[in-house]
Amino acid sequence: MTKKNVFITTAIDYTNDVIHIGQAYEKILADCVARYYRFKLGDTGNGEKVYFLTGTDEHGTTNEKAARARNLEPLAHVNEISAKDKEQIDSLNISYNRFIRTTDEDHHKIVTEFLKKALETGDVYKSKYVGYYCEGCESHKTLSELNENKQCPLHLTRQIQELEEDNYFFKWSKYVDFLRDLIKNSPEFILPAGKQNEMLAFLEKGLNDIPISRPYTKVPWGIPVPGDEEQVVYVWYDALTNYYTAGIQNGFWNEDTKIIHFVGKDIVRFHTLLWPAMLKNVNYHLPDTVYVHGFINLNGEKISKSRGNVIRPLELVEQFGADAVRYYFLKHGPITEDVSVSLEHLKEVYNSDLANGLGNTVARIAKLAEISEFEFPPHTTNQEEELGETFEVFSRFNDFRVDLVLQKIWEKLAELDKHINENEPWKISDKQKLHEVLDYEINQIRNAAKWVEPFIPGTALKIQKQFAESNIKTSEVLFPRL
Ligand SMILES: [Zn+2]
Repeated sequence: MTKKNVFITTAIDYTNDVIHIGQAYEKILADCVARYYRFKLGDTGNGEKVYFLTGTDEHGTTNEKAARARNLEPLAHVNEISAKDKEQIDSLNISYNRFIRTTDEDHHKIVTEFLKKALETGDVYKSKYVGYYCEGCESHKTLSELNENKQCPLHLTRQIQELEEDNYFFKWSKYVDFLRDLIKNSPEFILPAGKQNEMLAFLEKGLNDIPISRPYTKVPWGIPVPGDEEQVVYVWYDALTNYYTAGIQNGFWNEDTKIIHFVGKDIVRFHTLLWPAMLKNVNYHLPDTVYVHGFINLNGEKISKSRGNVIRPLELVEQFGADAVRYYFLKHGPITEDVSVSLEHLKEVYNSDLANGLGNTVARIAKLAEISEFEFPPHTTNQEEELGETFEVFSRFNDFRVDLVLQKIWEKLAELDKHINENEPWKISDKQKLHEVLDYEINQIRNAAKWVEPFIPGTALKIQKQFAESNIKTSEVLFPRL
């Protein structure tokens, strides 16, 4: 990578309901990658070189209807849900630089400017839309996208809307060649690569121009179309622009920045076909990568309110701790297919990898160091060599394979355990030899505490503190067995 800055985003969640663990997975994945880049580029976390964005998508019919169902004004409703989402995300130690809300004033202003510019290009025109609309997807649908009962396959419990209304349309059809070239010429634009063919196949069928506004009389909860108070901006046009709002104002929407969007597989089309076309239309810089992931299922079932199997991140954090939850999800890697998780499996992984793994190794070495009564000053001489080892451990971050990075770290921890067992420091009577053996092991723990930081930052900090000084003492158990 030659770019000097990195801008990482997650999808922003609808505020019809508080986020669940499936939605939180993406935040954890993106957070881990953001923390890695901070280390790599030397960013303190204040957004000098790495900017990490997450937030909530608050306009549109879904959010408005959820508010009405609670007899609340939309703003009161979205204020509450957005704050709760933030609380959930914070419980997982997600290190965003900004939690953006599409009701934020600066975003409102930038969407208005964006659309004003688009209107001037001539690629936005007013016409009548006659067709289907799924409020669950907040998306216009063709008959071919519905099942035989005329339902959206993703939202079987919702009634499909039949619309006949005046809208502003975006000349999406004009951008087919541009999008095909983008996908073919920039192999990193859609990752993993398997998703590229899916989008190319979709393009082969051609694109229909797409409405980018809704009538105010039907959807009053939105940003007004500049110069036409009878229309509000279509929620996806509004939402996608959130990346630009934060990026452009903080100096992260330019050639010098690697822009990475993490998104779920249900919204790939919006991010890889509509968003770049919107940007091209107004001649703005394009993102570098849209990374697509699958869904998290719980006990083999889709997580949904109607199934009654929703678990919030905070519930898991209270039971297992933020780092254990983060570790468990990241161990699955950047999931391409859907993955099923369960509390039993989480507990199993917690005990084997964290309590008996990392936690036990750290405790053993601290104990040996303490009873030896030696001093173990942190190494200052072979820093370059250690940095090299760190980048080797981190190498698969290049293709976001956080699972393989974790595997590598845990292999190193296993080697360290083996080193302890083989050398049996408790039996060594030669003081110099004992110091040598322990010094090596302590230094490996110091390295491991660096390596695990993007994954389990709270624990990493505890270990770093415990091993910061020459005089090492035993400390609280990192992961008590469950
Ligand atoms: Zn739908």
